[in-house]
Amino acid sequence: MTNAPVIIVIEDDPPIRRFLRTGLNAQNFTVFEADTGKQGIIEAGVRKPDLVILDLGLPDMDGVEVIKAIRTWSAIPIIILSARSSEQHKIDALDAGADDYLTKPFGFGELLARIRVALRHAIRPMEHIKADVFVTANLKVDLHNRVVSIDEQEVHLTPIQYRLLVVLVKHAGRVLTQQQILKEVWGPSYSENAHYLRIYMSQLRQKLEADPTQPKFLLTESGVGYRLKV
Ligand code: CA
Repeated sequence: MTNAPVIIVIEDDPPIRRFLRTGLNAQNFTVFEADTGKQGIIEAGVRKPDLVILDLGLPDMDGVEVIKAIRTWSAIPIIILSARSSEQHKIDALDAGADDYLTKPFGFGELLARIRVALRHAIRPMEHIKADVFVTANLKVDLHNRVVSIDEQEVHLTPIQYRLLVVLVKHAGRVLTQQQILKEVWGPSYSENAHYLRIYMSQLRQKLEADPTQPKFLLTESGVGYRLKV
């Protein structure tokens, strides 16, 4: 990349901000910082960043409100940082349009991996799907011919199982909340029926995972939703 990607860090905790700035600068990212939600929204508008890292617990406003504000004019990737105790908060942030999350304390390597996935998606939203064929581990999904195979052996899925898999494929690498998946697969009126999702996810794992109790790619994001590993 010729220009260093620009990242805005919105975080009120100075040691975490310093940790992020030092690490990201060393990886050749240009970093701008904000210690309040209001300032963060301004920075996001002025700096034209490639990505935003956002702490949900800010002194002046809820991080979820920051996401909603940014989403009124921008689709840039937003990775949230949240405390372990606030599952619902994390879900609200993802539903508001955040792309991914990390729970504090987090490792820098993990953050970098998430940043790379988010930036790739922003530049080429479907780049993990080459010529309508998605591949991860021994799973292959041919979206054009609607053929799913494991180790080159075709696997028969019901229409809903297939639709669920396609939603995961289209957002591969990203965490999806139960709500987001329910809406996309069954429609908005089913957003409360989380048990449907659990049942169909378990069926998909039975059909696709070598050991459904230890999934390799149909991953559970505990208390939040699911992620298809890329
Ligand atoms: Ca905080």
